[in-house]
Amino acid sequence: MSLDTPHILCVNPWIHDFAAFDFWAKPLGLLYIASILKNNGLRVSFIDCLDRFHFKTGTNIKVLKDGRGPYEKKEIPFPLDIKNHIKTNNIKEITKRCFSRYGIEPDWFRYDLKKQEKPDLIFVTSLMTYWASGVKETISIIKEIYPDVPVVLGGIYASLCPEHAKKNSGADEVVTGNAENILQKLVKDYTNFSFISCFDFKNLDSLPLPAFDLLSYLAYVPVLTSRGCPFSCEYCACSFLEPEFKRRSPESVFQEITFWHYKYNVFNFAFYDDAFLIDSKNYAFPFFEKIINSNMNLSFYTPNAIHIREITKKSANLMFKSGFKTIRLGLETTNFSSSRRYDTKIQENEFFNAVKHLKNAGFKSKKIGAYLLCGLPEQTLEEIEQSIKIVKKSGIQPVFAYYTPIPNTPMWKKAVKNSRFDIEKDPFFTNNSLFPCLNKDISIKSIYQLKNFIKTF
Ligand code: SF4
Repeated sequence: MSLDTPHILCVNPWIHDFAAFDFWAKPLGLLYIASILKNNGLRVSFIDCLDRFHFKTGTNIKVLKDGRGPYEKKEIPFPLDIKNHIKTNNIKEITKRCFSRYGIEPDWFRYDLKKQEKPDLIFVTSLMTYWASGVKETISIIKEIYPDVPVVLGGIYASLCPEHAKKNSGADEVVTGNAENILQKLVKDYTNFSFISCFDFKNLDSLPLPAFDLLSYLAYVPVLTSRGCPFSCEYCACSFLEPEFKRRSPESVFQEITFWHYKYNVFNFAFYDDAFLIDSKNYAFPFFEKIINSNMNLSFYTPNAIHIREITKKSANLMFKSGFKTIRLGLETTNFSSSRRYDTKIQENEFFNAVKHLKNAGFKSKKIGAYLLCGLPEQTLEEIEQSIKIVKKSGIQPVFAYYTPIPNTPMWKKAVKNSRFDIEKDPFFTNNSLFPCLNKDISIKSIYQLKNFIKTF
């Protein structure tokens, strides 16, 4: 590769939060971009501010059998004066809590930046909207080391809160939506280098594998078998971020897994997409059969949940035989009544049938969990309690998923109306740990009591 081609640095920023843990989290979008650039002849490097295996970590690395583990963390001040944004008098609930930067130490990041050949262009990604201050701190250190190198910010926060990102992040440009489509233009605008992409972005099978080879160590690999979602749950931004539902072929997904397993000795794989089991006959089933016949003895996880309606006797059996270890079901609530308007995922009998099929296939009860959304606007404590009881009655684990209000979702207006904070002013207040839309009749303490209640079954 010619040294005349531009050097593009890709950066995964820090998390600023009350709590964070590596639940199979990798910046997949940025790694796809890195790979597309590399395969089009550019020189690409990558710095991961969330690198759990950074060489300066020493011997203090904890890795669970499934590849997950804790990040380094350091307590930091809140990113803004929260007193100015609170509508109710529950400020102590927030201020007594520890807020931290998760990821490598700032000096390690400076070291990593300096040891690079000076880049011509830097791409920074972003994930949760309420991690905005982590993005800002990341870019401020990049600018400290390379003040004259343009920084382009993309990703989920940039797409959902572009005005906030333009005003606060410190990036030279904020891009919204899928940055793959405008890569050529960005590279041309900032480096004057032209290339004609060798990939057809409409066809997911034509894309290269994400550039996991740029990571310091691979304890697991996340896999995305589709983009978008055929559903439009009111609390979810998926349809806004990826309006079209597109899928990869089972062969392409199988080839990717085979590659990471044989070339990088990876045994743990996490599926990111909720829609993995939709139209199983043409997608998931052929994939499962290939995995079973390959005898690779892999472990699969579904951290983002799978659709309950698609769990049949056949899909449960094939998942078990393929090596799925934990199953997370996207239940959200056991309010199955017609008044449930915010999603249309399932009916009561579909939930109980799915649990029956999974258990019959061989999954142990403690390995099956049902996500229950907690803290939705206007949600009552009784609804949450009832959901826990029904899930427990089915013999599997309730798993709380605290609701995050997300701009550009159908539920956003209702969230703004019902929030205890000024969530339109700053994404910090959308942090689900703050229970921003918890019904005013419910205390945070009672939610924690319910969490403990779950453990008593
Ligand atoms: S919550 Fe899941 S099923 Fe609903 S729209 Fe989002 S990705 Fe699709």
